[in-house]
Amino acid sequence: MKKSRELFRKAKRLLPGGVNSPVRSFSSVGGEPFFVKKAKGAHLTDEDGKKYIDYIGSWGAQILGHCDPRIIKIISQTIKEGITYGIPCKKEVVIAKKITDIYPSISKVRMVNSGTEATMSAIRLARGYTGRTKILKFNGCYHGHADSFLIKAGSGASTLGSPDSKGVPKSFASETISVPYNDIESVKAAIRKNKLACIIIEPIAGNMNFIRSNQFFLKELRNLCSENKILLIFDEVMTGFRVSLAGAQNLYKIKPDITTLGKVLGGGFPVGAFGGKSEIMNCLSPNGDVYQAGTLSGNPVAMAAGIGTLDIISKKTYFKNLSKLSQHFTKSISLISSSHNVNMSADSEGGMFGIYFSKNKPNNYKDITDRNISIFKKFFKQMLTQGIYFAPSAFEAGFISSAHKINDIDKTLNIIEDWVKKNKF
Ligand SMILES: *Cc1c(COP(=O)(O)O)cnc(C)c1O
Repeated sequence: MKKSRELFRKAKRLLPGGVNSPVRSFSSVGGEPFFVKKAKGAHLTDEDGKKYIDYIGSWGAQILGHCDPRIIKIISQTIKEGITYGIPCKKEVVIAKKITDIYPSISKVRMVNSGTEATMSAIRLARGYTGRTKILKFNGCYHGHADSFLIKAGSGASTLGSPDSKGVPKSFASETISVPYNDIESVKAAIRKNKLACIIIEPIAGNMNFIRSNQFFLKELRNLCSENKILLIFDEVMTGFRVSLAGAQNLYKIKPDITTLGKVLGGGFPVGAFGGKSEIMNCLSPNGDVYQAGTLSGNPVAMAAGIGTLDIISKKTYFKNLSKLSQHFTKSISLISSSHNVNMSADSEGGMFGIYFSKNKPNNYKDITDRNISIFKKFFKQMLTQGIYFAPSAFEAGFISSAHKINDIDKTLNIIEDWVKKNKF
């Protein structure tokens, strides 16, 4: 860790906390981050030459693994014709067609540069469309770092113990209502008391570990939104093109009014998108009066990486094979847990998974307990030492790419089993 340690020392003098995104600092698990020199497939190599099996893949973006040669080729070709124009280009139309073909709930889409941009624009659109101001979200769900969402937010905000951020005016915060995940009665109570513009949810949560919403809950949510003319926003920045090609909405067979996308969609480039019914999307500028814009939005290189990625993951057997790999991993963890009689479980969908230090799978934010977190820290450290990189927080999901080989998974399982044997919990 010599070179990484030296780099982190320098970084801390130049960047707040030494990082450009808080969870990367490892502050919640203790210790210091490693600095990546290069990545290929399912593997990372750090500045000191140590190799890791990567179960994050840039927070889910690298579904094909790092440096997929097909994507590198497409990017290299595109970049020669210009990096960004700020004028329409064909690739914007191509990717929009692909997104709307894959997602039946999306008739029109706007491309942006991050998930945060997608979600903050989506709620502005919902407010513009409905003429109402209040929004409802769920405790532990993370929707990026816009002011309106840093109310009981998950991911890094939870990890660092500040699910409510300073710097968000009270007047803004009072427009956001946050209630427990999977709790329909709390939603009903909030609807009775407030005129809501929208309800935004991660239909499968990935920012308080991996937590499914239950089918009944999500169905009820859809009904309540329709009855009360509230827009239902599925934040599928993480789950879109990840739990299945057409996201969680495809698995639950529920159509949201607006969907937000990101991560996988950019093939590793900074890309987000939001889309929905034409009637709603037409409220955006220049058609309508809800303003939204972006200098680099829809640039050809990012669009090319996205198009290339969507083409590959749209192939018939892609998600079947990816799911098989994830299921092999999580089912084996459950077996290890029962054969050694420890409190551990796991779950997965498509290329996304969760590992829990409890017998039962969590149902909401409160189920990720302090006990869970303290066991996770020990687990994380041992895995890292052995060259297995999981997210440095008990509040994050994990990701398997199609570049992971069965050997990578089995090697990881052996290391997990050795750890479990030595640690009773
Ligand atoms: C990652 C994420 C975001 C934010 O995306 P950024 O690109 O990091 O701004 C929003 N919502 C969900 C569900 C996410 O997982």
